[in-house]
Amino acid sequence: MIIKAEKIVLNTTIISGSIEFDDNGIITAVNKGSTNNGLILVPGFVDTHTHGIAGRDFSISAEDVIEDYVKHGVTTYIPTAVSLSREGLRKFCSQMASSKSNVFNLEGPYISASKRGAHALSNLRKPDIREVVECMKLSKNKLAVITVAPEIAMEVIPELIKMGIIVSIGHTDADFPVSELAYLSGATRTTHIFNAMRTFHHRDPGVIIASLLYSNFIEVIPDFFHVDQQIIKYLIQNHWRRLVAITDSISATDLGDGEYSLGDEKVFVKGGKAKLKDGTIAGSTLTMDKAFRNVLELTDLLTTSSIVSYNPAKSINLNDRGELGIGKRADLVVLDSHYTLKEVYAEGKLLFQH
Ligand SMILES: [Zn+2]
Repeated sequence: MIIKAEKIVLNTTIISGSIEFDDNGIITAVNKGSTNNGLILVPGFVDTHTHGIAGRDFSISAEDVIEDYVKHGVTTYIPTAVSLSREGLRKFCSQMASSKSNVFNLEGPYISASKRGAHALSNLRKPDIREVVECMKLSKNKLAVITVAPEIAMEVIPELIKMGIIVSIGHTDADFPVSELAYLSGATRTTHIFNAMRTFHHRDPGVIIASLLYSNFIEVIPDFFHVDQQIIKYLIQNHWRRLVAITDSISATDLGDGEYSLGDEKVFVKGGKAKLKDGTIAGSTLTMDKAFRNVLELTDLLTTSSIVSYNPAKSINLNDRGELGIGKRADLVVLDSHYTLKEVYAEGKLLFQH
């Protein structure tokens, strides 16, 4: 199969030409040549932090929903659970064993009560490494990332890393020294910077400055509601190489306003904004194609593609995707010149057409 495009976004450059891939869904050739069809070809978007979409809540059911994601250009999504009870977590981890996703993300439950956002207070607890070991076993080693608050979970960070789990710092009230120690102890990721963490102050740099100084990858929700557009602009200009756009989307995504669930909590969506009864922000209804267009408003196409595809894939050690090149997965998004999705291929299969 061959796809021609006027602009093909490769890792560090944009060319005009074509991409060829085989029946196994692997890219076999990248050809330069002049093409004036107005099409833009970018790597499939990778959403590393999503709680659900179109009525499905991963914290409740781990069934595969790729068809709901591909229409937004997402060719890899990482099911993410909010803080669950011990029993709920066991159930989630066992369900993940048979999921089509090879990796998943746990947001909590070892996080700060004061920065819990929409996580149920009754589900937060002290770190328990046996629980994580059990989850790994139940899920056939698919647990890839866990968000912890270092002021609660510092002592287990080295153990988690030894198990091959990526430690992400978030839902935390940690000050600078505690956060710094967490990153120096091996935490490499930050969960939705600015949201559900100690507020930045110039005499209290806290976790935000520690993450900007030390974190290899930094998640951000680019819906211009969770974080002001000017701050996203600052992050892109200064930290784009490690910025990871996430949706943090919940089951309400694509369904409109109404009442939904996020794990054990009730969420109310009004005007696309998801909140708990008390007004606390509860995830988002953002989709990755919207995230792509929002980021693109603030920077160029190459940088945007890094933030929505390359960096997210790298951040979770998925080295076979997130970029277009020989030997990589044929995860492709074809856009028209207005950046509207025309076709989406996952592993070479056409899964969406507009
Ligand atoms: Zn989340």
